[in-house]
Amino acid sequence: MQQSHLIKPLLDADYPLADHGKGIFIYDSDGKDYLDACSGAVTANIGHGMKEIIDAIQKQAEKIAFVYRSQFTNEAAEKLSSLLAEKTDNHLNWTFFVNSGSEATETAIKIALQHWLEKGKPKKTKVLSRWMSYHGITLGALSMSGHSVRREKFTSLLEDWPVLEPPYCYRCPYGKEFPTCGLHCAAHLETVINRVGADQVACLIVEPVVGAAGGAITPPDGYYEKLKSICEKYEILFIADEVMTGCGRTGAMLALDHWGVKPDIAALGKGLGAGYAPIAATMVSDKVMEPIQNGTKSIMSGHTFSANPLSCATALAVLQLIDSEDLLSKVEEKANYLQKKLKKLQSEFSFIGDIRGKGLLIGMEFVKGIEAKEPFPREFIFTSKLISIAQKNGLLLYPAAAGLDGRHGDAIIIAPPLNITEDEMDELCKRLREALLELNIDNEG
Ligand code: PLP
Repeated sequence: MQQSHLIKPLLDADYPLADHGKGIFIYDSDGKDYLDACSGAVTANIGHGMKEIIDAIQKQAEKIAFVYRSQFTNEAAEKLSSLLAEKTDNHLNWTFFVNSGSEATETAIKIALQHWLEKGKPKKTKVLSRWMSYHGITLGALSMSGHSVRREKFTSLLEDWPVLEPPYCYRCPYGKEFPTCGLHCAAHLETVINRVGADQVACLIVEPVVGAAGGAITPPDGYYEKLKSICEKYEILFIADEVMTGCGRTGAMLALDHWGVKPDIAALGKGLGAGYAPIAATMVSDKVMEPIQNGTKSIMSGHTFSANPLSCATALAVLQLIDSEDLLSKVEEKANYLQKKLKKLQSEFSFIGDIRGKGLLIGMEFVKGIEAKEPFPREFIFTSKLISIAQKNGLLLYPAAAGLDGRHGDAIIIAPPLNITEDEMDELCKRLREALLELNIDNEG
């Protein structure tokens, strides 16, 4: 084979060459099909090759593909920001478009800091976040990420921000159980704020359902309500990183909608363009924008491709398709069907320790000993083994960290396109079962 000049995730790995995609399947250059059980990186929310989106991209490209945001506004960006505002009941009334989830979360904290600066509170600069979290790969986003493995090569360049324990009920960091725990993991925010000093804290950022850093860790009811009320009490902005969870992944526009909690700022990405275009967004409430509107009247951030017409037209078509096919109202039913089938696998394979998640964002954690929840030894590389066997057999799965230190645990995320059918879910579970069998692990159960 000819030498590749492309820097891939693993330099010496042999990746198949993707040829085309149709629905929930990707086909490689040998014609082999892969059932995309994780929408790539929880991104391809409406599957591949949708004609409506391709038409919208072509139409926009024929009109105009690029304008610079300091010289022109454009119809696609205007329409998309209006639709997004409408979808948050005009609570997040303002949108700033960027190109990736990392940029969206970094922009979120920049806006939070600018908000306090323009309000005459320049000391409010600290960003609180949680361990077992991932907010992006750029240095600012990594600073807020409680992801030991992704941080460790760059620690000298990172702020020491994450402080809260995750709401990880399967392995409660406090050794407690819900509901007798009294949501200690949320209440602890108050202690942290008091230690740091509320006058120093700008914002708290959280993933409503923890993605790659925890395998769809989903807190119990009441958790986000409590975090939000503590933030309000101490005048701290509440930022939802909905890069993975937003745009319908859990069956609602924002995952926080399930708990009736309204963030001050939200970051969107992944599913916004559903993989048809690189686009992400930072959405901001009137309350946060007000001092900026009355002050410098400009957000101190921006990228060459911010509000790019082609990307915005793509995202607009994606959201319109989700609406016209009424996909969100069907997520819960599909998720119940899939969870039921996955639980059946759990009864067959005793090393499936936990199945969790919200809507079609499902996590599966694996353990060596079901009672002790003992992880597999590191050298067993359980997750990567499972993922490569599955891919060889035509099933795509997304890896996630697990275990309280984010290093000694194994999990995957199952998050197929929202328009997956029951037959396709049956096929997904069939291929997953085959991969689990091929692992050839002594099954206690
Ligand atoms: N935030 C969350 C919750 C994510 O899951 C990710 C990516 O996985 C990001 C931010 C970063 O997004 P991107 O990879 O588009 O920069």
